[in-house]
Amino acid sequence: MQAHPAGPRHAQMAQEPHAPVSTLDPVQSHVWPHSAERADSGELSIGGQGVVTLAAEFGTPLFIFDEQDVRQQARKFASAYLADNENGTVYYAAKAFLSVAAARWVAEEGLGIDVASGGELAIVIRAGIPGDKLLMHGNNKSQGEIRSALVYGVSRIVIDSFDEIVRVAAIAADLNVVAHVLVRATVGVEAHTHEFIATAHEDQKFGLSVQEGDVEEAVRRIAKLPSLNFVGLHSHIGSQIFDSAGFEIAAARVVSVAHAIYDTQGIVCQEFNLGGGMGIAYLPEDDPLSVRLMADQIKEIVNRECESVGIPVPALCFEPGRAIVGRAGITLYEVGTVKKVKLDHGERTYVSVDGGMSDNIRTSLYGAQYSVALVSRDSSNEPILCRVVGKHCESGDIVVRDAWLPGDITPGDLIAVAATGAYCRSMASNYNQIPRPPVVSVRGGVSQLVLRRETFDDLLALDPFAG
Ligand SMILES: *Cc1c(COP(=O)(O)O)cnc(C)c1O
Repeated sequence: MQAHPAGPRHAQMAQEPHAPVSTLDPVQSHVWPHSAERADSGELSIGGQGVVTLAAEFGTPLFIFDEQDVRQQARKFASAYLADNENGTVYYAAKAFLSVAAARWVAEEGLGIDVASGGELAIVIRAGIPGDKLLMHGNNKSQGEIRSALVYGVSRIVIDSFDEIVRVAAIAADLNVVAHVLVRATVGVEAHTHEFIATAHEDQKFGLSVQEGDVEEAVRRIAKLPSLNFVGLHSHIGSQIFDSAGFEIAAARVVSVAHAIYDTQGIVCQEFNLGGGMGIAYLPEDDPLSVRLMADQIKEIVNRECESVGIPVPALCFEPGRAIVGRAGITLYEVGTVKKVKLDHGERTYVSVDGGMSDNIRTSLYGAQYSVALVSRDSSNEPILCRVVGKHCESGDIVVRDAWLPGDITPGDLIAVAATGAYCRSMASNYNQIPRPPVVSVRGGVSQLVLRRETFDDLLALDPFAG
């Protein structure tokens, strides 16, 4: 099984980083949006729009999305995962990045959407996504969130605890509707990824234990409640997964519980939802399985497992988030200061940008690694070892820990960090009262504002004493 960069490689980061493996222009690699191109001047363009122009119009830091890249990934997932699986659904995991426009892009390309809060639900409702395309998650959904979901007709509620069985049943009964539910199973599989984002150890907050018999007990309780309809099982094993090995173990365990449920309760699981977690390349050397191969292997594993225990293959559902939007988005920053610091061996150049941990928390939270490039001009200078840091009052405010940038990097240059489309804007904060950056989408040479930049007035509007 291939390891995630934040796993074993994370441990190497204390050592001297290697010089770049490739002398190719970094923006030519598969880490960058599909439409990324460099002009002769060295300026990067995305979707036919130059980043210098975009920075002048929208300011920096700026999230730029290649709309066609998002659409293309969504189409690829729909065609790969729904082939020979007509009753299945691919839900886009909205938490990776969500806005009204983004919800419409993925829905237009054939995906449903998985929401995990009332706020995410409100946005997809505003986008006009019908309830039968939606699924709701959460290990502690509020009464209000459950009620809103059922009123809107969200087609699947994923049950995460025994408490929630009673809660969802009561609200559905009160509304005089039947809630179609999945039971989230903790299958005891740890996907190879950074510990903080793995979600299928037994000792974690999500789901009901397969091993302890809690999944079977949940199905027993659900079956007794007329306002609930048990549809099937859910399993999500982690994030940034590069091959199908983890899914193989998870699928085997899900199939074996489904079999036990049929044997002891006579209840058929009509649907398996195997979650998301399909990985993307953050560094040029990252090599996740292609969408098609991953889909074929997972479906093949489920078919084989079902056949071996003698149950019909249910509809298969999936919830990719990062793999849909991750590569399509980049973050554009302006360099503000360049500072040399002596090390025991050589020196390091600290390149400070006009954002940081408020627009990308993944580096400090997970030790995530990113590719970064000078994108406003050409440079033939030798690359030097840099650390790209933000402007926050925190020494851990690092955007890219080890970056190779041209030796003449200087204030006023624009640099871009690749593959920030997932979990950057959606995890952004106002730390240091910094307004969150805007999101712009580009397509066919035309840019469009998707989320505007926050202003000081937005920040002050929350404070009743500011009036
Ligand atoms: C986060 C999450 C996903 C999406 O994960 P990605 O790694 O972005 O594909 C899907 N399902 C569940 C339950 C999740 O928590």
